[in-house]
Amino acid sequence: MKSVALHNLGCKVNAYEMDIMQDAFVNAGYKIVPFDQTADIYVINTCSVTNIADRKSRQMLHKAKTKNPSAIVVAAGCYVNTRGKDEVLSDDVDVVVSNTEKSEIANIVGKYIEEHDISAETVISEADVTAVNSIENAVKSHAEIEGNHTRAFIKVQDGCEMYCSYCIIPYARGQIRSRSIDDVTSELKSLVADGYHEFVITGIHLSSYGIDKIKFDDTNGDHINFAEFIKKYHAGEIDAPLLDLIDEVAKIDGVDRIRFGSLEPRIITDSFAEHLAAMPKICPQFHLSLQSGCDSVLSRMNRHYSTDEFYNVTEILRKHFDSPAITTDVIVGFPGETDNEFAETVEFLKKVNFYETHIFKYSRRKGTPADKMPDQLTDAEKHSRSNVLLDLNSKNKASYADSFIGKDVEVLFEEGSTGYTKEYVRVKSLDKSYENGTIVKGRITGRIDNELMEFSAL
Ligand code: SF4
Repeated sequence: MKSVALHNLGCKVNAYEMDIMQDAFVNAGYKIVPFDQTADIYVINTCSVTNIADRKSRQMLHKAKTKNPSAIVVAAGCYVNTRGKDEVLSDDVDVVVSNTEKSEIANIVGKYIEEHDISAETVISEADVTAVNSIENAVKSHAEIEGNHTRAFIKVQDGCEMYCSYCIIPYARGQIRSRSIDDVTSELKSLVADGYHEFVITGIHLSSYGIDKIKFDDTNGDHINFAEFIKKYHAGEIDAPLLDLIDEVAKIDGVDRIRFGSLEPRIITDSFAEHLAAMPKICPQFHLSLQSGCDSVLSRMNRHYSTDEFYNVTEILRKHFDSPAITTDVIVGFPGETDNEFAETVEFLKKVNFYETHIFKYSRRKGTPADKMPDQLTDAEKHSRSNVLLDLNSKNKASYADSFIGKDVEVLFEEGSTGYTKEYVRVKSLDKSYENGTIVKGRITGRIDNELMEFSAL
């Protein structure tokens, strides 16, 4: 029996897909071993979101080959999609697997073994492999990295057609593909049976969920694009398919909490927020990627909203939810970002008062329009802007968590005495431990440190 060691880099979608690849190997009769052990086959699930991610992907591939020079080293995922298979095949890499081929990985590796006559002892059962025959239909989820069985990430959609000018993902992940509601709900039911309570609904561009099933009227087979969808959606002519999915998810007994991955601000309308606010299982935590708080930068980024529209969305959420946790991503040092433009972003972040801001220094990606833009900033400039926002973020985060002191909350306990409120504020119970997955009502009584609040059951 050949052994396989897998290593994941990058986002939660990648982590999810790594589970699928692992299952494909298990079903095909391979033995999974930890990555630090010597293996016959090494799989690196690569990431290409930044240049640093590219470098890490290359380093891990090289490390695997150095560890066992006779091993088959497989590069899977975004680095393969963005570079092209021929470029990635090298002295370190024997097999390349694109994002859409991940569920077929055991077949692909099996074929490589056969063609290279590496060993007759490996038995690949085609029948078993078909049990996991596509990413879209795979029914296995990804438990959060900490590994406790309380929260699972469900990928309901792949692909992005937004083409933000800095982003490589549309080239790496391709067109939108959404899973059917039945497929998602049957996965959820099996996860509930496995003991999960909280579910994070994710996708590469989650707000596009289901629009691949909406065709143009004068259809030539193409689905509606996101801009057209938003126009009709805002005019009240069509509903968000994402809401139809969430309605069905919420009906499942044992799904106690539902969170969303990143949402595009334009999907949040008054009626969308009102609909969600009437569903007790929805957690009032919303991640809306801002990227810049300055309209001219947003336009160069090819983001299709203004700061006013974005602000309006945060007001809608605050109208329908009590103290929602609104989090965001911001890129600093986008090409041509002037001091004034950056200052506008700082002011906007203060105005919205996010719970948490994830800060990214702009990273040039070959093949994207932003890579060719003039006035690229230096690393030092990006670094100093990042520090300004990091400082603001830690103040905002602490003040949001402090605003819960004295408030009654509901906590899902995950690690004995620690757990999360519905707003994703992390708390510790000082007087008592709870079983994994227990939901307890109580009060936040104080702060322990920057990341942890004190909780007392009522
Ligand atoms: S929405 Fe923009 S940033 Fe997000 S994956 Fe699509 S292209 Fe990239």
